[in-house]
Amino acid sequence: RARQGTGELCRRGEVAHGWLCQSSGYGLDDGETNMNTQQQLARWQHGVRAISLALGLLLGLAACAPAEEPAAANTAGAADTQVYEWKMITTWPKNLPGLGAAPERLAERLRIMSNGRLDIKVYGAGELVGALEVFDAVSQGTAQMGHGAAYYWRGKNPAAAMFATVPFGMNAQEMNGWLRYGGGLELWQELYGKFNLVPFAAGNSGVQMAGWFNKEINSIDDLQGLKMRIPGIGGAVLSRAGGVPVVLPGGEIFTALQTGVIDATEWVGPYNDLAFSLHTAAKYYYYPGWHEPGPTLEAFVNKDAWEALPPDLQAMIEVATQAINEDMLSEFTARNNAALDTLINEHGVQLRRLPDDVIAALRASSKEVVAEIAEADPLAKRIYESYMAYLEDVRRYHSISEQAYMNLRESAD
Ligand code: CA
Repeated sequence: RARQGTGELCRRGEVAHGWLCQSSGYGLDDGETNMNTQQQLARWQHGVRAISLALGLLLGLAACAPAEEPAAANTAGAADTQVYEWKMITTWPKNLPGLGAAPERLAERLRIMSNGRLDIKVYGAGELVGALEVFDAVSQGTAQMGHGAAYYWRGKNPAAAMFATVPFGMNAQEMNGWLRYGGGLELWQELYGKFNLVPFAAGNSGVQMAGWFNKEINSIDDLQGLKMRIPGIGGAVLSRAGGVPVVLPGGEIFTALQTGVIDATEWVGPYNDLAFSLHTAAKYYYYPGWHEPGPTLEAFVNKDAWEALPPDLQAMIEVATQAINEDMLSEFTARNNAALDTLINEHGVQLRRLPDDVIAALRASSKEVVAEIAEADPLAKRIYESYMAYLEDVRRYHSISEQAYMNLRESAD
């Protein structure tokens, strides 16, 4: 009986499991002859359940099918062939490794996944609009998509920076946890929605380096009046600690440092800093990156353009940004160490750790500056509270898991 029943839905020797046909042993002579009565009964019952499920699905589909199903199918067919030609503008110099590779890879994957239906041309900073004009340009529809870092848009709302990174805050793994399973992404969508944008996490550098300095930093006094390129909340913290933060897009950092317009800069980490030749403009390379402990890079889509997409292309953007979010972290993880070796061994870079009292002073300023974000408006307050509550939770567990393990691993040497 089972063989006849399953034969109507699946090939001979297969049984229906939901939508799938799987080999069941039915109709396989050696399988049947070796079965005892109890096994046969169990398989028969299993087969009946599978048939009932399959029939139920078919009946359910028939009941749900609208009368105009053929027309609906034609509409879907038209959507399947429509090509969406988009522009993605970025805050990164064209062809920059790491940060700049991410939007290129994202566009390429979307082109392949969509069979050419989502065709995105990527522009480096300054090609269509300036690096720090990307947010407004996508908001207004000059381009459909952008790639950048949310801390560049603190002027729109100070809480925006929390979706990139917070000094002394979460690392990459924790940011992903907050965004995807801790309510962070929903808040980000709410904030960017006010600017006609739909945001996605689309890259992470991991913990950055504290930056390049043309003199040693031995005490908090050495920060006084120091002109340093440092965006985001970190810049506000440096200001509170007596420094002079400067916000420059990546492409302008090298010249500014080399010509003495700035005394110091942070950028990313060894892999991307080497690509900018920052070691030829400053000698001292400091860690740890207190100001960017795991910054999330972002992609954002103009909301009207997003809503015009069919659901399958929307899903591809969601999946492809997740992939690029992971891909960038993996690339930096794989390449930073060799780049640091090159900087030290081939270019004579002086690696230094920020003194404890400097870190303590920056931490104290950071606490004040971050708390002030909550005062901006009710949404900023909710973002601040969500971030800080998640940070407290994740710290508690990571202190006995990730951190405990890292300490353990280091203590073995
Ligand atoms: Ca940075």
